[in-house]
Amino acid sequence: MITYEQIEKAIDGVAERMNRDFEGCTDVPVLLCILNGSILFTAELMKRLDFNVELVSMKLSSYVGTSSTGKIRQVMGMTGDIKGKRVIIVEDIVDTGNTIVDLDRIVREKGATQVKICTMLLKPAVYNKPLKLDYVGMEIPNDFIVGFGLDYDEVGRNLKDIYVLDPDPDYHVVQQADNTQNASHMKYYILFGPPGAGKGTQATAMVEKYNLRHISTGALLREEIAAGTELGLKAKALIDAGALVPDEVVEGMIENLFAKVKDVDGFLLDGFPRTIAQAEALDSILAKKGEKVTSVVSIMIPDDMIKERIRHRAAIEGRADDASEDTINNRIKTYHDKTEPLIDFYKKAGKYAEIEGTGTIEQVRESIFTLMDKF
Ligand code: 5GP
Ligand code: MG
Repeated sequence: MITYEQIEKAIDGVAERMNRDFEGCTDVPVLLCILNGSILFTAELMKRLDFNVELVSMKLSSYVGTSSTGKIRQVMGMTGDIKGKRVIIVEDIVDTGNTIVDLDRIVREKGATQVKICTMLLKPAVYNKPLKLDYVGMEIPNDFIVGFGLDYDEVGRNLKDIYVLDPDPDYHVVQQADNTQNASHMKYYILFGPPGAGKGTQATAMVEKYNLRHISTGALLREEIAAGTELGLKAKALIDAGALVPDEVVEGMIENLFAKVKDVDGFLLDGFPRTIAQAEALDSILAKKGEKVTSVVSIMIPDDMIKERIRHRAAIEGRADDASEDTINNRIKTYHDKTEPLIDFYKKAGKYAEIEGTGTIEQVRESIFTLMDKF
């Protein structure tokens, strides 16, 4: 996707702007390298700087639990003291911006007097945070990339150029073959969002505007049971026996529906997939048809807003599952634990899009429509 020469040019540009901004500075600003991805970028950038910098490195752990301020990541060690100093955060890539927002907060909390943000790459189609990025090397489309410090499961950091990850090369070959016979493509959207994010309201608008069939797995099970299909009977037997409906049953229902429903331009999946195994099953169901997932639409709100909205809803509707603080916290935790691996899965497939869910219903709807218009 990007050659080493192009990367070098982008770094030249960043260094030039930084040199101009810090020209004649009498302090020694900290260059904060975010491990591991930014190692190569930081090294190349440093070589080009004309002013004195102190190199400090740090690594973030993945998300650790939740708090009133939302998800928090912990510092796994900062190699120097940044208190009272100006700090330039050096990141490899900004995608949703969740990481850089956390980093900015952590660096300020540790007493930096000024924070500048520098990233080699930015995915502008995904980034939706108000935080200003001071230095951006290059903007790229929403693909999952590897090389020049960036990895796929720790592999590929050594590549000189940057590549788009092909999650499964065979899959694309099969798809191309099928595509020639089957020209009519359906859209397959997956809706993510914590309880209280307004998924239901937005789903209705999405389905109407883009002529989609809304597939909510819970509702679907009830439909199949009511219609007395073979699957429905199997599901009913299990539910009556107090057992969980296994993946194959849910996957079978969805596959049936994809085949059966013809008068729509696509589907909006809600409540499925819930696990990586289900996401992989969905990929193979679609691959058989020469189709693929179009995009995940993930409506995001911070944890304290989830709580607020659930409490509000409980007060109005008196829903039992919205009642106690413990239940609410548990649902938030389950949501993070279950969804985060899936977010990673779809990010790697270049199919993850996050919508800021904190605005009004209309604002959120407009952001979703802007995203979906692209497909
Ligand atoms: P964000 O929090 O902005 O969504 O994601 C930032 C972090 O996710 C980066 O520091 C990087 O570790 C990882 N990331 C995001 N997009 C990519 C990508 O396309 N390739 C790789 N290898 N990592 C990515
Ligand atoms: Mg990183």
